[in-house]
Amino acid sequence: MAFKPANNIQDLQYFGEFGGVNPSISDSSTYTFLSAKTMFDTFEGNADGCYLYSRHSTPSNLYLGEALAAMEGTETASVTASGMGAITPVIMQLCGAGDHVVSSRTIYGGTYAFLKNFAPRFNVKTTFVDITKLDVVEAAITPNTKILYCESVSNPLLEVADISELSKLAKKHNLQLVVDNTFSPLSVSPVQLGADIVIHSLTKFINGSSDTVGGVVCGSQEFIDSLRNVNDGACMLLGSTMDSLRAASILKNLRTLHIRMQQHSLNATYLAEKFEADGLKTVYPGLASHPSHDLFKSMMNEKYGFGGMLTIDVGSLENANALMELMQEKNLGYLAVSLGFYKTLFSAPGSSTSSEIPEDEQKEMGLSNGLIRFSIGLDADIERTYKTMRACMESLDIL
Ligand SMILES: *Cc1c(COP(=O)(O)O)cnc(C)c1O
Repeated sequence: MAFKPANNIQDLQYFGEFGGVNPSISDSSTYTFLSAKTMFDTFEGNADGCYLYSRHSTPSNLYLGEALAAMEGTETASVTASGMGAITPVIMQLCGAGDHVVSSRTIYGGTYAFLKNFAPRFNVKTTFVDITKLDVVEAAITPNTKILYCESVSNPLLEVADISELSKLAKKHNLQLVVDNTFSPLSVSPVQLGADIVIHSLTKFINGSSDTVGGVVCGSQEFIDSLRNVNDGACMLLGSTMDSLRAASILKNLRTLHIRMQQHSLNATYLAEKFEADGLKTVYPGLASHPSHDLFKSMMNEKYGFGGMLTIDVGSLENANALMELMQEKNLGYLAVSLGFYKTLFSAPGSSTSSEIPEDEQKEMGLSNGLIRFSIGLDADIERTYKTMRACMESLDIL
């Protein structure tokens, strides 16, 4: 694919106020106007380049937004205080009472809980489907459906969405295809494949240092403007605003994302191949055994690999807990939720990040008790990591 997301970030050029190599941080919640007329025009959304109030926009947030729009190849983007603070306004902006969402059933637990338990309060209903079955997806669409929602690579089962085919369905039925690309930044560019709106939790790989939460919505100028509209914009009115200091720090981390993703992918590929050869049930999009391996390959920006996320099944929750505790003791990583850190992070999704999903539904979607989700770190010596992990598994009779 000709699309070069990391170059697009690198090619941006913003100087600080005094010629600094980083843009200056604008540390203000409100902005002065030389004329009252300009203030009025800004309220009406007709004064480009003017700032009004920082819940609406700030220079630092715009710099980060533009860098993320360059990464995804969208007209523009709006950063938010968290990933959920990006997801919920997008849904509320696109749906009103009586509207309907068709969503993948394997999505982030918080998104699932929002669609299943919260949005119905506003009479927004969701049908959850197996996103890999396009006929099932299409059959779930009703005249009231407004959104087709999925993750490029799903949490935690690492199912891969066929974004090109889903976008055809979305266009046919006049829906917005909204894709959460948190698990595969740079590797997959959903808008290039036909998605309308891309969301990230910046908390994960993009920021990469597990020191902040953040989110972004990437899309058309028209849609992003609608989110920020002072009269009826969900970002403006629900108020999930990112702080300027955070925007500035995330922008600096974003610039090394391509190097980090390459190392995450390299390490995850090494471990996935070893685990599978050892006879462990291993799920990683980079393995030929993954049901969507070829699909992922056809969608990916090759350089960045198959990503840093993999799962193994160690048979029972007891095994999973014992292994995770032992791996932490051996300093192979941390027993923690979240992803994209320099250290490997592991958790058992059934009892943590996906615990919002009822047990019978977990079973139905193949989320077993012995599943461990790994976010593979930036380990300099992954062979040593593997040997120590293997020794942990042997000592617990898992291998
Ligand atoms: C973490 C995560 C979110 C939510 O992001 P926050 O920054 O925690 O609000 C959404 N989607 C996916 C895939 C995630 O991993």
